[in-house]
Amino acid sequence: LTERLQNAFSKLRRKGKVSESDVRDAMREIRLALLEADVNFKVVKDFVKEVREKAIGSEVLDSLTPAQQIVKIVNDELVKTMGAEAVPLNKAPHIPTVIMMAGLQGAGKTTTVGKLAKYLQENEHARPLLIAADVYRPAAIKQLQVVGESVGAPVFEMGTDTDPREIVRQGMAQAAANHNDYVLIDTAGRLQIDAKLMQELQDIKEIAHPNEILLTVDAMTGQAAVDVAQGFNEQLDITGVVLTKLDGDTRGGAALSIRSVTGKPIKFIGQGEKMDALDVFYPDRMANRILGMGDMLTLIDKAQKNFDEQQAAEVAEKIQANTFDFNDFIDQMDQVQSMGGIEDIMKMIPGMANNPQLKNMHVDPKDMDHMKAIVYSMTEKERTNPELLNPSRRRRIAAGSGRPVLEVNRMIKQFKQARDMMNKMSKGNMGGMEQMMGG
Ligand code: GDP
Ligand code: MG
Repeated sequence: LTERLQNAFSKLRRKGKVSESDVRDAMREIRLALLEADVNFKVVKDFVKEVREKAIGSEVLDSLTPAQQIVKIVNDELVKTMGAEAVPLNKAPHIPTVIMMAGLQGAGKTTTVGKLAKYLQENEHARPLLIAADVYRPAAIKQLQVVGESVGAPVFEMGTDTDPREIVRQGMAQAAANHNDYVLIDTAGRLQIDAKLMQELQDIKEIAHPNEILLTVDAMTGQAAVDVAQGFNEQLDITGVVLTKLDGDTRGGAALSIRSVTGKPIKFIGQGEKMDALDVFYPDRMANRILGMGDMLTLIDKAQKNFDEQQAAEVAEKIQANTFDFNDFIDQMDQVQSMGGIEDIMKMIPGMANNPQLKNMHVDPKDMDHMKAIVYSMTEKERTNPELLNPSRRRRIAAGSGRPVLEVNRMIKQFKQARDMMNKMSKGNMGGMEQMMGG
């Protein structure tokens, strides 16, 4: 996918100027790329049409090449279509805020209830009550109890013999009596949307007056996700979407499809089975993931001022103070990559051309995305304090980023090498350092 897009764009870049047929070529590649990312074909059609119109009509900024201009338009449009900004959870004016789950069987509703409970506990010191309203499988109640226990949240259940409507009624009463500030209602799913399920969900909605109806969709279902989302939205008027299983190798095209078909915001993404594997949805990050062009976009961002001098000075300072961390590392890699790769830049530094350490610093553009995925799977603490990264954290990061542990280890090693080398350089050859950072 990425390769194809980049081929299209490198074709454009070589030419320097964009003609209408160039745009047509690029748009064909973008269309294929989106389809490969599992974006629904109808959504792709509309999207490409819009982008094409903008690309042909647009003036190319002085500071950008025509190719960069097109990438920027594609990316901006992708971000815009997905809602531009992260959308927070709706809140009730008086407690409790009621969040009702909906979705097909296996989409991740029960797991997400647990993750949300944990998220709310950690971010708002919330005391949520979980209601077990899936009575069709005995294991479903047990599963919610296990989940509730693992995050330390109480579960209201009445076994499998009570009607889910009654369970919700009594669960709400219990939440009121106990002054729970959140109620999370786990509901049943089916393998397909059916009338009985929808009626039950509509009734629960009547009873509980949820502030949020979160449709949970498995990102790996790709194209099919659109029909599911449309069906649920028409019958329940959902308020938001949780896209699960983005830790798999899906590129997340479902995010674009669902948002553009339902118009409802994606609020969270699930990136693993563990209770901490829930993240706020950011359209710009998802756009990067769908296009797979993080470094290209960075290049555009940096186009006008190739390197910001102040930033370079900051980094040099950090290195000297030995506080250069993973955030800086990724930042620098982005910048270095946008200037044509680290090898080329290092060669500009006096005395570095034949340095054997240069070989260890080789960074392939493809590896860049993997490295970023790894860093994004670290907590903020781990990013600023790499010494925390013990084997169990590394395993978690590997699972979170979908990369092998071996690669996580290698990346951490590379980071340390880079840091050490920069440290040496900053002591020995400040001129070279500044040159590298773009001073
Ligand atoms: P429900 O039927 O909608 O309640 O779905 P469950 O919560 O039972 O989840 C179905 C399966 O998907 C379980 O094995 C979960 O562990 C798994 N699952 C849920 N969310 C995620 C996720 O974000 N990533 C991964 N890898 N697995 C998930
Ligand atoms: Mg369930």
